[in-house]
Amino acid sequence: MTSKNSPVTLAGTTVHPGEVRKIELPVVKLYTDTQMSIPVQVHCGKQAGPTLFLSAAIHGDELNGVEIIQRLINSRAMQKVRGTVLAVPMVNVYGVLNQTRYLPDRRDLNRSFPGSSRGSLAARMADLFLREIVQRCDYGIDFHTGAIHRSNLPQIRADLSDDDTKRLASAFGVPVILNANVRDGSLRQSAAEEGAKVLLYEAGEALRFDELAIRAGVRGTLNVMRALGMLPASRRKPSYEPVEAHYSRWLRATDSGFIRHRKQLGDQVERGDILADIVDPYGTLLDSIITKQDGIIIGKQNIPLVQEGEAVYHIACFSQPDEVSDNWEQFQDDLLPDTD
Ligand SMILES: [Zn+2]
Repeated sequence: MTSKNSPVTLAGTTVHPGEVRKIELPVVKLYTDTQMSIPVQVHCGKQAGPTLFLSAAIHGDELNGVEIIQRLINSRAMQKVRGTVLAVPMVNVYGVLNQTRYLPDRRDLNRSFPGSSRGSLAARMADLFLREIVQRCDYGIDFHTGAIHRSNLPQIRADLSDDDTKRLASAFGVPVILNANVRDGSLRQSAAEEGAKVLLYEAGEALRFDELAIRAGVRGTLNVMRALGMLPASRRKPSYEPVEAHYSRWLRATDSGFIRHRKQLGDQVERGDILADIVDPYGTLLDSIITKQDGIIIGKQNIPLVQEGEAVYHIACFSQPDEVSDNWEQFQDDLLPDTD
């Protein structure tokens, strides 16, 4: 039994079943009197189904998600959608303009939820996004990357204590899943309070496009839409089961200097392994960064300069790290078969 979808009205525009519309959601203008808006593409399927938002660049310098959403909304699969997709390729449009994580008031939008219509610029943005997008949705996928000069291994972070969220996190199909407690003021926290289940996809580095991260994001989102019944099920079986990390820790620089990495993103490490050497300006060894735990490197600093105390490697711990390592190899072969 299928029933007809309902129309969606956003910023005064109504999108009827079977229609795709681009809508500009007005936000606070610039002091140059330049009008600003958040672009939203609404795909209203003919048949009823869940409502899903896809959001990128809540941190304005995290761009992989912009490209992921662009590829998705232009893919043929979107013509078969059941239910409704609200695709928001850039939430923090000011940050994208200035190539920065933050808003012009130097606040972090992802720490400003739920916000308020009478609060700071960040609070107003958060409030608008929550009211106009999140409150209409049953599910959401929020796309992030590592911070500037930091790369993340493609990973899903979600509240795995919720069975439905856990099922979708696994369906996304990246090798690593992290159970992430929601942070105060994050979109994920406010979305959960509104009853929307949100996956956070982290992959790649700020201000860069990373082809593997982008392909994995597109494939993962389509997988989630299949798991939600928004797209026809695929006959292809996934080549591995994503593995949930027990916990993760940052490994910090023990001295200040120039860094020579011995291990890379995705590498399996064991307690006692040297991950990097820190040298002085003459190249003399000052200290080495040694891991105290077994695991997989899921985040890494890229700039070859460190200050003592700076986080250099993010290591996730698993009960079967060998399996994760094999899955990571398989994942790369699946998505970038022509490299090596
Ligand atoms: Zn982010």
